[in-house]
Amino acid sequence: MDGSEWKPLAEKIRVFYDKSSQIWERVWGEHMHHGYYGPDGRTRVDSPREAQRLLIERLLEWSDVQQPEATLDVGCGIGGSSLELADRYSAAVIGITLSPVQRDRASERARAAGASGRVSFVVADAMAMPFEADRFDLVWSLESGEHMPDKQRFLQECLRVLRPGGRLVLATWCHRDDAQPAPPLSAAEQRELKRIYDLYHLPGTIPLPVYERIAADLGFSQIRVADWSEAVAPFWSDVLQSAMQPRVMLEVLRSGWETVLGARAIPLMVSGYRTGLIRYGLLTAVKP
Ligand code: SAH
Repeated sequence: MDGSEWKPLAEKIRVFYDKSSQIWERVWGEHMHHGYYGPDGRTRVDSPREAQRLLIERLLEWSDVQQPEATLDVGCGIGGSSLELADRYSAAVIGITLSPVQRDRASERARAAGASGRVSFVVADAMAMPFEADRFDLVWSLESGEHMPDKQRFLQECLRVLRPGGRLVLATWCHRDDAQPAPPLSAAEQRELKRIYDLYHLPGTIPLPVYERIAADLGFSQIRVADWSEAVAPFWSDVLQSAMQPRVMLEVLRSGWETVLGARAIPLMVSGYRTGLIRYGLLTAVKP
């Protein structure tokens, strides 16, 4: 496989983020991921942005990240995590994204933060990363795994670029476990998922236990997983509420159809979490 079969998907993802990143930043800020609302999702948080900041903090605690020196942020968006990690650990960070618009904006934000010496951004595909083996001691993937067309190859690439002893931290959209004794996905559930995949340009999601098995088969050690669906589910109603302001509505409409479609997907996510079809999975593991 030379990866050419993934080009049309990569192109759709590029266009989606090229077009939607600016409005997302203007309305919701620099993080393009779920927020954290306490273990049971009942903690009141001031804003989606504050909840997103909390998610990073809790995720770092949960995965027991220790003072990385060289970090790779896979699917870096406009560098929300990259800059946070660089700031927290005085670490060197490279972020990769498929979107040149995101790369440019992330680089601009690094310059403005006085961090451009340590933090850089490149357009690169996580399915074939342009890095030598054993380079990073932290590989961080916050909500990019769901975009990856081959989850095994994705984790294999993460493993390859990690140094021995280095840690992978992955937070990703999953669908519910469908292996025995759980029932298989019904036709209605599959239709529901397909609508979400189409709207967000996802090739598909897998259950968290499948990520866990892939990581084990590849040879990762110290694998831990957790399901944080309850903790993050309130994010979508928060986002929906803020999208209802006339100023935001106007921006959504002005910014083009991709974003409008993105906004239409929000009720699907709300219901996906309510029924348990959509799950939010965490995995951390170490390269032996
Ligand atoms: N982690 C960021 C952005 C999440 S949005 C944040 O939390 O703010 C998903 C990101 O994954 C986008 O930046 C998109 O460009 C990136 N992405 C999706 N598929 C990718 C691939 N194959 N290679 C590299 N980046 C990818």
